[in-house]
Amino acid sequence: MPMNLILLGPPGAGKGTQAKKLVKRYSIPQISTGDILRSAVKDQSPMGIKAKGFMDSGALVPDEVVVGIVDERLDKSDCVNGFVLDGFPRTVAQANALKAMLAAKGRTLDHVVSISVDKDELLERITGRRTCKACGKGYHVLFDPPRLADKCGECGGELFQRDDDREDTMVKRLDVYDEQTAPLIAYYESESLLRSLPGTGSIDDIFQRIVSIVEGK
Ligand code: ADP
Ligand code: ADP
Ligand code: ZN
Repeated sequence: MPMNLILLGPPGAGKGTQAKKLVKRYSIPQISTGDILRSAVKDQSPMGIKAKGFMDSGALVPDEVVVGIVDERLDKSDCVNGFVLDGFPRTVAQANALKAMLAAKGRTLDHVVSISVDKDELLERITGRRTCKACGKGYHVLFDPPRLADKCGECGGELFQRDDDREDTMVKRLDVYDEQTAPLIAYYESESLLRSLPGTGSIDDIFQRIVSIVEGK
């Protein structure tokens, strides 16, 4: 049974954390446009050079750039049994482009899982977020600390704080979410794909809620 999923939610809602657990459980890839863009920035590819300014200021990268990324990525063979889109779509234009590209590929979405967390908690989560340089796994200095200080528990990689996880940029990103991404909740509701859940509680509790949704229980 294919599992074509979107995780929708504001920065810090736990999309990346939950996507990584879905990858392990269902053997489907996580498609994080944020991760793909950060790796392009690191490699200083033409796309990365174009994206960097938008990302540093907390703005969205232009739709055509991220739509192109996802269109190519969905054609890779590891997507045959499904995928978890994490951080895409983020605008109505991206959602429309996704719909068209999936139709062209003869595929459909199964669920859009919308995770909600209130703003104070989002700010706490983002300020304490640490990310593995090597494998991308996320940690939190208080809520999900690594067992060994500053080392990834999965791969031993070094942990770092993202440039855009600083207070000023973070506030801008939350505003951008409200203005440009939150309308997708109504969009997917009208497509009868929306499944909402509270993003508070332990990481495992939230994962169980998502599993119940995607397994139709
Ligand atoms: P978070 O996990 O905090 O929501 P992401 O890693 O998803 O952040 O995204 C980081 C940045 O990358 C965004 O602020 C934006 O500049 C860019 N980005 C990621 N995904 C998209 C997208 N779908 N559309 C436009 N910009 C994107
Ligand atoms: P997103 O991808 O939506 O931006 P992340 O998955 O990176 O969010 O999570 C943001 C931060 O919050 C990370 O530091 C992560 O460890 C932490 N986090 C994730 N889920 C929870 C949770 N249920 N409770 C507390 N902290 C969490
Ligand atoms: Zn790691």
